[in-house]
Amino acid sequence: MSEKDSIRVIIADDAINQLDSVLTDYKRPLIISDVMIFDKYGAHVENLVKADVIWSISPDYKKGLVARFSGVDIILGFGGGKSIDLAKLFASDAGLEWVSVPTAASHDGIASDVASVMHNSYRYSVKCKQPKLVLADLTIISTAPKILTRSGIGDIISKTSSLAEWRLASECAGEPLDEKIYGTVDHSLEAVLRDGGLGTLVRSVIETGMAMTAFGSSRPCSGTEHAISHAMDRRMQSLHGLQVAFATPLSLYFLEEAGYAKHSSRGIVEFMRRKMMPTTLRELDMSRDLFLDDIHHALKIMEKRNRYSVLKHCKATDTDILNAISELNY
Ligand SMILES: [Zn+2]
Repeated sequence: MSEKDSIRVIIADDAINQLDSVLTDYKRPLIISDVMIFDKYGAHVENLVKADVIWSISPDYKKGLVARFSGVDIILGFGGGKSIDLAKLFASDAGLEWVSVPTAASHDGIASDVASVMHNSYRYSVKCKQPKLVLADLTIISTAPKILTRSGIGDIISKTSSLAEWRLASECAGEPLDEKIYGTVDHSLEAVLRDGGLGTLVRSVIETGMAMTAFGSSRPCSGTEHAISHAMDRRMQSLHGLQVAFATPLSLYFLEEAGYAKHSSRGIVEFMRRKMMPTTLRELDMSRDLFLDDIHHALKIMEKRNRYSVLKHCKATDTDILNAISELNY
């Protein structure tokens, strides 16, 4: 079995109580967390786990940090996206395994091998390795702020655009496509569109993250809509899932024109409104000109990554894009 197949996933109410059995082979786990999570669950975790636990609370990312604690033999990311990303980075640096213990289902990085790092107010991705185990406690995750759950739903519904564009890019520009991985991501997407349950969302963000690792790139889960969000990162730091969802109808609009969309752009806007996600420029305090500039920048990002954009396929002019923005009531 390859490393890619050997990841274990536990999704259950009170799954945190299984932490000790998960860590039986380890003596000194280093837990990366934040103040809020530590205050809420620190004592409970220390009571549960027999191993000699060390905590690092909201550390800055610096290479060599793990070496300062002697004898660390596994790393845990316990918290939101930031703690999980730091655990990935530290595990990579130290050549250790890591365990993902998410406290929110806000994006599909929970189980992926890619960490998102901010540098000079620009977010970029660093390849690490996937977790040995994902321990998702639905009781803890259900107490996360609603906006984080909305963000997770947003990251999943962005797959309406990324999958359709992946198919287009495969058929029209020869980009590699793996049907099995396409099917996995599509299944996760449809499950979330059908069912608003937290367990379904958590499983979907984990499975889509694992699908990216299995494919070896983020292409199945990240298309022009993600590139637009990365361009938006230059000015704002809203939640990843809300930003990618915001850009999804625009990308879907052109995928419909190209004949590749399985979902309608207007249907996704309606879904987002029902879930109380931002769908208008006013809600993000953005002008049309700034959005257009983000879209231009996104096309450069796609070009740089050698990814075929549906906007390029449709030869979309500024007038076409501004028409789409009007028609979708952005
Ligand atoms: Zn994403």
